[in-house]
Amino acid sequence: MDEERIKVYLEFLACPKCKGDLVYHKAEKTEGFVCQKCSLLYPIVDDIPEMLIESAIPCKDEPSAKG
Ligand SMILES: [Zn+2]
Repeated sequence: MDEERIKVYLEFLACPKCKGDLVYHKAEKTEGFVCQKCSLLYPIVDDIPEMLIESAIPCKDEPSAKG
């Protein structure tokens, strides 16, 4: 997905679970929007973000010193 579209999506999309902000994530095989609060990745399929809790892929928590 191109950067302009990603920016647009990031502006109007929110996590369906917590309504929080999303960040764009791209790995070798996975592309999508991540909610860091929920540790969920909403995959982009055929250039369309699947903003469904059921489609979300749990992502591994980065160890952090938060708390
Ligand atoms: Zn969330």
